Amino acid sequence: MSDKMLIEKKKIENCLKKLFPLCRSITGNANRKTLRVLSDITPIRIIEYKSGTEVYDWKIPKEWNINDAWIKDETGKKIVDFKISNLHVVSYSIPVHKKIKLRDLKKHIHYHDKISRAIPYRTTYYKRNWGFCVTKKEYDKIFKNIPSLEYEVCIDSTFLSNGSLTVGEVLIPGLSKKEFLISTYICHPSMANDNLSGMILTAFLAKEIKKLKNRFYSYRIIWVPETIGAIAYCYHNEKRMKLIDNGLVVSNVGGKGKFGYKESFDKENSLNLTIKNVFKKKKIQFIKYPFDINGSDERQYSSSIFKINTPIITKDKFYEYPYYHTSLDDLNFVKASNIHKSLKLYLDVIKANEKEIIYVNKKSCEPLLSKYNLYPSLGGSHIPKKKEIDQTDVILWLCNLSDGKTTITQIEKKLGLSKKYLVSMSEMLVKKGILKKIK
Ligand code: ZN
Repeated sequence: MSDKMLIEKKKIENCLKKLFPLCRSITGNANRKTLRVLSDITPIRIIEYKSGTEVYDWKIPKEWNINDAWIKDETGKKIVDFKISNLHVVSYSIPVHKKIKLRDLKKHIHYHDKISRAIPYRTTYYKRNWGFCVTKKEYDKIFKNIPSLEYEVCIDSTFLSNGSLTVGEVLIPGLSKKEFLISTYICHPSMANDNLSGMILTAFLAKEIKKLKNRFYSYRIIWVPETIGAIAYCYHNEKRMKLIDNGLVVSNVGGKGKFGYKESFDKENSLNLTIKNVFKKKKIQFIKYPFDINGSDERQYSSSIFKINTPIITKDKFYEYPYYHTSLDDLNFVKASNIHKSLKLYLDVIKANEKEIIYVNKKSCEPLLSKYNLYPSLGGSHIPKKKEIDQTDVILWLCNLSDGKTTITQIEKKLGLSKKYLVSMSEMLVKKGILKKIK
């Protein structure tokens, strides 16, 4: 392993250790601190959107912060402690400090129904409520006691109506003003794959993209709380976001399991093919997940107003691995070396996407081929063959498919002709003034 790789892994490891304990949520100081720590990798602009702001159909909630939380049994002994794991508290719990009978406490306690040693991750963002999460073992131990016993619960949390929701942004200019979006989410507390791995990878990816010479695309790279943060960002950047065609959502990239990729809403979109070709070229086995309306912030970016194609490359995809949304998604499950592997893969996709060749037809409708000496002079002599494709057909296809978005790789796949030949034909059409090279 090269020295550079070792140093990078060490840096990823340090980030994991520093950021894992923070109690992130959709708002709050831990999100700001997370972005500040990530800014050590590459400078990130931190933006605040005020609580109470209406963003489309949603409203930015009051800012939530938490200092401490615990449950004490009838002897005064702490039996659940936020300081041991922040997953013990339902995120966005309202403050509470009172004595409560065990039978009444029951409806505020949650456990994982499949893994008895895991603390589940639960939230109550939009309903004023409070709760604790424990392992099934802890749950059974608590509720084997007499239901009339009195326990003491405390959640020391605060809600700020003059607070804000925090997002991070890095804008990297390219030769073209055309932007490529990279988005990841920062709202999950102590879970390493979902999505500490993604926020760290994105910071390193931003750093690497800045180093790419002669990059065509401009890059808009954002760290947002999932759903509400992505919606708030879209709302505040609507004009620019509407102009973006493609991007990537970075999520769950550090697990032990297989690589996977979730297709964007338009499976014919060029980026899906680019990703598949990168996997093939690197001989990496992967699981393909078709687009689904459940998932991460691709739900917002693919909505009708924006229609941005954002596939996701994962290493142990959300919903799929057993430790998903539990305390076992920890630093034993996620290793810096896996994040590093995913980082290289993401960077290869970015580089491959940069290299894709795209032309646009300058003529409206078909060009008059005879004007350019491109048509058999005797009209009626060009009869399309059923099986093979002749040069006239290739020209017509190139004019038809070159829409400023379709890549030569896609045309290669469609026509079954070599990339080299298609590029040489396209360049000939450029010389004739029919096509224009976009990139
Ligand atoms: Zn999640």
